[in-house]
Amino acid sequence: MITVMKFGGTSVGSAEAIQRVANIIINTQGDKVIVASAMSGITNFLVQVVDSPTMDVDEVVKQFADKHLMAAEQMFDEKTLADFKVEFNERLAFFRECLEGDVNDAYYKDLITSQGERFSTLMLSYYLRKMGYESVALTAETAGIAATGLPLSGSADLEMTASGMTMKVRPLLSKGIIPVITGFYGIKDGAPLTFGRGGSDYSAAVVANALDADMLEIWTDVDGFMTADPRIIKNAIKIEEMTFGEAAELAYFGAKVLHPRTIEPVRIKRIPLKVRNSFRPEEPGTLIHSLRKKGKGLLKSVATKNDLAIVTISSAEIAYRPEHTAEIIGRMARDNAIIYAISTSLSTVAVLISSTDVASIITDLEDMKDNVIERIDVKNGMSLVCCVGDDLLSKAGVTGDIFTAVKEAGVNVEMISEGASEVSLNFVVPMGMVMDVVAVLHSKYIG
Ligand code: ADP
Ligand code: ASP
Ligand code: MG
Repeated sequence: MITVMKFGGTSVGSAEAIQRVANIIINTQGDKVIVASAMSGITNFLVQVVDSPTMDVDEVVKQFADKHLMAAEQMFDEKTLADFKVEFNERLAFFRECLEGDVNDAYYKDLITSQGERFSTLMLSYYLRKMGYESVALTAETAGIAATGLPLSGSADLEMTASGMTMKVRPLLSKGIIPVITGFYGIKDGAPLTFGRGGSDYSAAVVANALDADMLEIWTDVDGFMTADPRIIKNAIKIEEMTFGEAAELAYFGAKVLHPRTIEPVRIKRIPLKVRNSFRPEEPGTLIHSLRKKGKGLLKSVATKNDLAIVTISSAEIAYRPEHTAEIIGRMARDNAIIYAISTSLSTVAVLISSTDVASIITDLEDMKDNVIERIDVKNGMSLVCCVGDDLLSKAGVTGDIFTAVKEAGVNVEMISEGASEVSLNFVVPMGMVMDVVAVLHSKYIG
């Protein structure tokens, strides 16, 4: 039995948290493979470092080292600390080298922001050893996590990762050693490529896929996958069970508890996933698997995605000219824009995209304005609401109920996407009203 266990930033955010996590690991039966995020705050710090035009390398290295050493000093005795510092200093020297590298390299930001994971994993692995368990700290390089794609938005190469891990990780398990692997990035052409913010969940799913694990556990700071973002809805409740499809839709449309791409690598191998609270390991968490268990309410969970824009492209009778729609969407794809919803009429195509993609898309469509496109309208400041429930498509009147509730909140619906997914109904509202909408839906149909 192999369990892949992923611990997020807050779960490894202090000496105390790392000690708590180590206890969770040793109390888990069977073979364990650990994937960890950077200590909380570290990746944000690294992002700031890369984004600041001038940086004092000595100061950056000092601040970074202090945060980790402060925790290490609380956790280790003198002898362990001395051994730890040898490896720590090697990694720190590499970090400094990276900072002094070529800032114009397209993958420089990936290289710098992925550094935090190298240190949190080292600390956790040393602590397991201090407790008397054999453990090695592996990086994505030494574990064989392979990546493809563009800067800051890599995808794992599942096949290459599986062959890398079979060689590098499986032999450790057969010797009873606990591997602790860096989350967040994989290796493309010998250099780090990150999987997007929050990407350690995805790394762990990729590791579970590569090793044909029996279970993936995502350990975080809440009791499980909840009916809504607990920061918005104070009485959000934990969901006991969900399907892969339900969790995937919610994660994609903004439920931050899982990176948007976590589900696919485990779903294709039918590896069940649990979301659990490292601060309350006695809680069973949420089980995500292929079996559907009907919930009580009309809705199971609601997620929101903010900072979106509706771009409406008008072109006479575009419905009869699919090649024009294809060209427009093709250009958006080349810009690497994610289209969250699309809706067409006789003479318009409306797409929902991230506000940050609007400028480049408008520029790219400019030359089509002479002959194909008549007008482009942009509505910024939009949010998408993703509602997931058991009977959304099969039961008459559910959509009506949802929009009646939205109307009660006095909110205008700007765009609707229904029927594309079996489990979700998505619609777009002005960002300033999204909290009200979620509150009404939650209190009427979930809470
Ligand atoms: P980690 O560092 O462990 O990866 P994250 O901060 O990325 O943790 O994700 C956990 C957070 O996700 C929770 O603290 C919670 O605020 C937020 N969250 C948003 N939507 C949900 C949801 N539907 N269920 C649970 N947590 C959610
Ligand atoms: N440390 C990375 C981040 O903060 C990855 C993760 O936490 O999953 O985005
Ligand atoms: Mg996360």
